[in-house]
Order: sequence, then structure tokens, then C-alpha cells
Amino acid sequence: MRIKELHIYQKDLVLTQGPYTFAGTSLDALDTTIVKIVSETGLVGWGETCPLGPTYQPQHATGARAAIGQIAPGLMGENALTPLTLKRTMDAGLNGHNYAKAAIDIAIMDLVGKHHGIRVCDLLGGATGDKVPSYAALAIGEPDDVARNAKEKAADGFPRLQIKVGTNPIAMDIETVRKVWEAVGSSVRIAVDANRGLTARDAMYLSHQCSDIPFVLEQPCNTIEEIAAIRGQLNHPVYLDENIEDLNVLLRVISLGVCDGFGLKLTRLGGLNVMRTVRDICAARSMPHTCDDSFGGDIIAAACVHLGATVEPRLMEGVWISGPYFEDHYDPQNGMKIEDGHIRVPAGPGLGVTPDESLFGTPIASFS
Ligand SMILES: [Mg+2]
Repeated sequence: MRIKELHIYQKDLVLTQGPYTFAGTSLDALDTTIVKIVSETGLVGWGETCPLGPTYQPQHATGARAAIGQIAPGLMGENALTPLTLKRTMDAGLNGHNYAKAAIDIAIMDLVGKHHGIRVCDLLGGATGDKVPSYAALAIGEPDDVARNAKEKAADGFPRLQIKVGTNPIAMDIETVRKVWEAVGSSVRIAVDANRGLTARDAMYLSHQCSDIPFVLEQPCNTIEEIAAIRGQLNHPVYLDENIEDLNVLLRVISLGVCDGFGLKLTRLGGLNVMRTVRDICAARSMPHTCDDSFGGDIIAAACVHLGATVEPRLMEGVWISGPYFEDHYDPQNGMKIEDGHIRVPAGPGLGVTPDESLFGTPIASFS
């Protein structure tokens, strides 16, 4: 089954719950890039990549579209049923830019699933159940407000909460963590995520001041070196997120013993096929991890859920999706939703979501 066409679309995801704020950045809308691949048999596969604004990571939306445009001509006429060969073709056509290649990889897996009539999670080895746990990222705010929100999210059924720190003064971050803990106790698991925003000094202070509270400390500082330097002085397990940009970094931090688990972003690492390898490496070292993305619509959400469904439950830290932050669903009937803190695995075939193409407008670029 040959690839006949590839189309690139741009869409703004407007945030309806107010700005999305983390570690000193505030965004009102997200610029997402959608890829449609059409096979010679008329099957359609959908992919997406949505960097979290231009400053969260080196990746950015216009870069994604330029990179996909660079890669696309080399994919025309290639066999859509060979994701590994296509990955090598993409790597031969452009160095790096995993986040752009991820959109194509997701679309290919959607196509392959549709061709065989099975779900993407089954292509990835098989699901452990019919739903995956999600987790709630608590909006930055006054400590009492965050604690109230935490209590509501726990009552909603979320098995895990993530407190964002690294924007306010450290004393306020500590007060927030303590008040959330007082509000929810051990009824849920807690992650404290600094999104790289703490100094080594403040990360140690936070961990020491909250040594009686069980949580994982996610990406406390900007660099692997800063975190490695203080790791032995922290009272909490450490997860890495933003530093994990490719497989090589993942292998390096595991071999160095820098962390205990990961917040993983599907598109940052290059898509579903790379994440299958990451999943298996994490399983080999018993390292828990999430299956998230930084942002994106129903296509990315479905991809994360299919991947998350294949992770051993004891290592599954949850699938965060950005759907609750905006109202638009690409698929009005099977849009990805969180219910009781969990997300149902789409029935498929492929990703199991069928976008309403009219929402994407005219392609910004097309290849055939
Ligand atoms: Mg994180």
C-alpha cells in the first residue's frame, strides 16, 4: 500500500479555561500542526504535533511544518505498511526534528491499523485494559485555591495529581505542596513538577521542607548536570521530563542513575515507534513513566492513550491530555475525554478518531 498524498494543516487551539501557565510562561492558544496521509487505496491516516509555544522547548510550530515539508517528498510512493523503513527514510531526508517526524509516524500507524482493521495499541503489542489512568495538572495559583482544586480533582477520580512549582517564590511553592497534601493525603499519588524552573538550592529546600510528604519531584532544574549534582541530597524520587529529548539521552540518564522515572512526551521523542522502544527500556529497568504530550488535539490524545494502554500497569504513571483546556474536538463523536480520572481506549481501527476535516481549513502544503 503506497503513500499517495501528504497534506499539512495548521490550527489554533484556543484555550477556553484561561491561559495555560507553567514555569514563567503563559499561553492563550496553541499552534498545532496536523498531517493527513492518503494511501493509493484511499485510506487516510492522521498525525499531529503541537509544541507548547515557542519557548518551552527548542521545538516550535513553524519549525514542525517546515521540517514535515522537507521530509514529505521523499515519502511519496513508499510502502505505508513499513513504519521502520519509513523512519529510516525520514532520518535520511532530515537530521533530527523528532517532533515533526512524530506527526508522520502517528499518521502512518493510523494508516497501518486501518489497513489491518486493528487498533494502534494492538499494533504496539496489545492493551492491558480498556482504559488508562489520567492525571490532573493543577493550575498555578494561591495555595488555598490549588488545594481546593486538588480536592475536587481527587473526588473526580484522578489517581494522580501534579502540582506545578517553579513560578512563585519557593516559600509559596512549599506552602502549596503542604496544603495539597493536607487536602488529599494519600488518596492520590502526587507529582511536584517544576518544568525546569527551580534552582538547585530551591529544589533541595523544597525537598527538605516537605520530607514528610510522599511525592515525586519532576524535572526540578534545567539541566541533567544540576539534577545529578543534588540528586543524593534530595528526599524524594526524581523524574525527568524536558531533558529527555531522544533515546540516547534516555539511555544516558538511566545508566548514570540520575532519575527514578520519567514524564515522557510522545512527539518530542519522535512518535509511537520510538516510544515503543522507550517503553520497553523503561520496563527492563522498572522505571515508571507517563505517556503524554506537551499539547495537541484528539489525534495526539488518541496516540498517547493507545501507547499508554500497552504499558505495564505497575509502571504506568498516567496519560495527560490537553482536551479539558479547549472546547473543540476534531472528532465530534469519539473525541478523547477524561471520565472519572481515566480515558477509554478508542475502539479503532487505527487511532479510532475520525477528524472533521472542515475544522482544519485548506492545507498549507500538499505533496503527491
Ligand atoms: Mg512535566
